[in-house]
Amino acid sequence: MATDYDAPRKTEDDSESIEALKERVPDKLSGSVDVEDSDNPSGFELPGADLSDLELDVVVLPPQEDEFTCVNCFLVKHRSQVDHDEAGGAICKECAA
Ligand SMILES: [Zn+2]
Repeated sequence: MATDYDAPRKTEDDSESIEALKERVPDKLSGSVDVEDSDNPSGFELPGADLSDLELDVVVLPPQEDEFTCVNCFLVKHRSQVDHDEAGGAICKECAA
């Protein structure tokens, strides 16, 4: 008897709670995703800034007297690797080949 009474009541409760959940879940999900999204970018920006600093250090290396920077491949090479000079700068033998 108690079981018979309990079963239909449970189904009604379920359909009610499902409707309530349907309205609640999207709100909850978008809310938590928003919080995580705003947290992640700031966490990624810090290591990114460090990396760009390192890259700048490498690029800023000044060419030595017996070196040149190829205007085509932007590699610093020895003067003996110059194929010819152009208006913008020197072209290495590899690029001229
Ligand atoms: Zn080159």
